[in-house]
This record gives sequence, C-alpha cells and structure tokens, in this order.
Amino acid sequence: MKALSIKQPWASLIAHGIKDIENRTWRTNYRGCILIHASASYSKNFKVDFTDEQMKLSYSTIAKECMLGNFPFGTIIGSVEVVDCVQNHPSIWAEKEVWNWVLANAVLYQTPILAKGKLSLWEFEGFKEVKIKCPQCGSVETVLENHLTEPFSSYIHTCCKCGCVIMETGWNVIE
Ligand SMILES: [Zn+2]
Repeated sequence: MKALSIKQPWASLIAHGIKDIENRTWRTNYRGCILIHASASYSKNFKVDFTDEQMKLSYSTIAKECMLGNFPFGTIIGSVEVVDCVQNHPSIWAEKEVWNWVLANAVLYQTPILAKGKLSLWEFEGFKEVKIKCPQCGSVETVLENHLTEPFSSYIHTCCKCGCVIMETGWNVIE
C-alpha cells in the first residue's frame, strides 16, 4: 500500500478523521487509500498554531492522545483516502498557495505498526487492509492482515461495535 509520512499532531488528527486536508507543496494525481505514517521526531514535541476553529475540533483528541502517553511517532497509525487535489479548498485546514490533498474515510488502526518514514508517497509492503464482517454483530470493520509478524501472520481485531475479538477463524473478508 502507498504510505505518506506526516508530522504530528497532523498525522493523528487525520487518522481520527478530524483534519480533512493534507497541505503539500506538490500536487498528486494519486487517488485512493494511503497509509498514514506518523513521522519520527527526535524531540517528540511539537508546536503548532491552531486557529480557534481548528482548536475547537482538535482539542479533545490531542488531550486524549497526550494522556495516553503521547502521540504515536515512527509508526503507521491508520489510513485515509485521497479523493482530490486542489488549491484554495474551503476547509478550515486548507492552506493557501499550496496543494490541498482532499481526504475522506479515515481509519484509525487499533495497533500502530512500526515503520521508517520516507519522502514523497512511498510503498509499504507487508500488510493489507481488508473489510471483514463481525461474526457476532455483523458490523463491517476495516482491518489489517499483518504479514510482518514472524513466524505467523496476525489476523486479530476487536470489533469496534460489540467488542468481540475476531480471530483468523472468524475472519470473513468481504472486500
Ligand atoms: Zn461485533
């Protein structure tokens, strides 16, 4: 899958579905799902200037992530779809005079996956995002088939709706 390295707190805000624009100096023609890689940071600190509107939307997520022991760094934390790439998008997250990558359908992974970041859009091999139906409640969940774990691939997911743990035997890929 394609991956994009993004600095915190932006990476988390995108994975949580709060920030719907990624601002880049370069335009992309890519459309589809990308992995959100939270860049590693030496200081593990960040300083950003939020507008009041942005702060209102982000505050609870940032507070929660900080309470749970800081933002994730150096890991793939979720995925999002790139649906367009424009300039002067009306979103409160869009910056002027750069390209606004328009994002939709963010997914936050239950377990972040360690990975080294790269520049530009890069390819991350080793796992696949699929949709499965929870055998207990029928909820359609976006999950990862992780082939990076040795010696076994891991197929495990906790249903977001009913909380049941779905193991490989109950793994019914629908998409
Ligand atoms: Zn369920």
